[in-house]
Amino acid sequence: MSKFRIPFEKVNWITSSFLIGTFLIAVTVVPWYIINFEQSWFQWLMFAFMVPATAMSITLGYHRLFSHLSFKAKWPVKLFTLVFGACAFENSCLDWSSDHRKHHKHVDHDEDPYDISKGFFWAHMGWLMFKLRPDKTNDNVNDLIKDRLVMWQHKYVQWIALLVGLVGPAILAGAYNHFFTVLPVWQGALGGFLLAGVLRVVVVQHSTFFINSLCHTIGHRPYSTKHSARDSIIMAFATFGEGYHNYHHEFQHDYRNGVKPWQWDPTKWTIWTLSKLGLASNLRRVPDSKILLAEMGEARLRAEEKLAALNAAHPTMTERAHVMLNELCEDLAKNYAELEKLVTQRVEVSKQTLVGWQQETRDLMKFVRSIRLMPATA
Ligand SMILES: [Zn+2]
Ligand SMILES: [Zn+2]
Repeated sequence: MSKFRIPFEKVNWITSSFLIGTFLIAVTVVPWYIINFEQSWFQWLMFAFMVPATAMSITLGYHRLFSHLSFKAKWPVKLFTLVFGACAFENSCLDWSSDHRKHHKHVDHDEDPYDISKGFFWAHMGWLMFKLRPDKTNDNVNDLIKDRLVMWQHKYVQWIALLVGLVGPAILAGAYNHFFTVLPVWQGALGGFLLAGVLRVVVVQHSTFFINSLCHTIGHRPYSTKHSARDSIIMAFATFGEGYHNYHHEFQHDYRNGVKPWQWDPTKWTIWTLSKLGLASNLRRVPDSKILLAEMGEARLRAEEKLAALNAAHPTMTERAHVMLNELCEDLAKNYAELEKLVTQRVEVSKQTLVGWQQETRDLMKFVRSIRLMPATA
């Protein structure tokens, strides 16, 4: 008898039907509509607005603002992200934040709601489709319970999602075609519902789900290997900047996920722009010295591992790579100790020194990666 069995008695039927139903409509009815019916630019404009509006209400609002308190926002930002966040059909902000705070606290362990060690599908969406865990408690979001806007959204989240996220696009697209007589009203309304409603919901949901699945599976771990979260530019493009997940798990209260200036993080740029417009404040940033210390710590571990492997494979080897790696490891250990002392004492480190150490760390990692272990000869 096979060990694999779907626990049907634990299926969350409403959520499962919604997730599977919308996905099936998105891959069958939507292409059928696009191929067989003319569309107006207005329907696609709504799709183009609703995708970033709802996705970034999750990344900027639910995630960085409400779950991590990485900045403060004025009420219009809160209201917008709560209304359009509801339209992503990812539960209320209160429930989402509670789950997410548990994820950070217990990452890769049993109490992590979307624990990647239970498998890719579980972390992606399985955790929503089955009720395998005891009823959840919201005792880790007492700060949000005091927020009247958050509690208003928590109470009416399904209605907001339905009216603004699905019915709204249908009415608007129908009205546009009624007033401008571009397409039959029913055709416009159906297009609004399918494109800016259903297709958009599926795209945005899986963009968020990828953060819990792929961002814990593919990419590098430059800041910490103590958890499964990874940095990946590909995932950053797919998730509005949330793909630098290794950094995020290491420094969860930073409003930036893509901390380097060149990294793709539209959520970070939007928060920064809101702060310039007076709509956001108290943007939290981890000091550069602390970030570099984490990078140097990881580089040191990787270099020492490679050195130990070299020593084990070639105990008598005195060749150049071995000597160089040894010297570089010693230099890094010295720089690390110095930076650690400065960070502990909260002494400001000059930009020039940081850039120099950063470059040395990167060069060492490049060198470590370039060393290939050869099988020892008899
Ligand atoms: Zn994570
Ligand atoms: Zn987070």
